Amino acid sequence: MFLGHFGVGFGAKKLQPQVSLGTLFLAAQLADLVWPTLLLLGIERVKIVPHFTATNAFDFVYYPFTHSLVGELVAGLLLGLAYWLLRRNVRSAVLVGLLVPSHWLLDLVVHTPDLPLYPGPSPMFGFGLWNQFALTQVVEFALLGVGLWPYTRRTTARNGKGRYGLLGLVAFLVLIHVGGLFSPPPASVEALGWSGQLFWVTVLLAYWVDRNREVSGLPGGETLPLVPSIS
Ligand SMILES: [Zn+2]
Repeated sequence: MFLGHFGVGFGAKKLQPQVSLGTLFLAAQLADLVWPTLLLLGIERVKIVPHFTATNAFDFVYYPFTHSLVGELVAGLLLGLAYWLLRRNVRSAVLVGLLVPSHWLLDLVVHTPDLPLYPGPSPMFGFGLWNQFALTQVVEFALLGVGLWPYTRRTTARNGKGRYGLLGLVAFLVLIHVGGLFSPPPASVEALGWSGQLFWVTVLLAYWVDRNREVSGLPGGETLPLVPSIS
């Protein structure tokens, strides 16, 4: 799952508009943001097997820290706590914390049974939608659209950066997704680990775009600038 996680991040803005889109992306994609680094460190492992599923070439042999349900719940607890310490907003902190394990639930739909419940000898889960190439794309783009729509309703561009930056961000996400589908598998796990660092750019872009948009839809057509809360 790729675009779907960002769809959840976009959509969460409607629930707690004071939280920056960058933070929402960070939470919803935390597992995939950290995973490439753990690959490079040799802590988690993946095998590159061409045509492993109809959608990608990855056999996720061992990733209990970033991709077990318990691992993501703990990471969510820590990120939510960090958010609360910084912003002292319980509702926003809870949302940020819950977004982290939302990643596991979305991955559950597409992965083959390789997602553990907890580190150690855990049963593995995954419904394997990745074996249905076309259906996977329908689900990915639908989730992106379902999240993006309320984001564009709930926020308005303050300037050209907010307007075209958002278009650029969405184009960048779609490009990474489609590029991954149609390019050959990475030459090595190390190459995958390094190219995976690109995911961080999506978070930085999201902070920047969100700073150039403001919350709309308040009574009387007022808008609430998001500048003071680059949260
Ligand atoms: Zn993932």
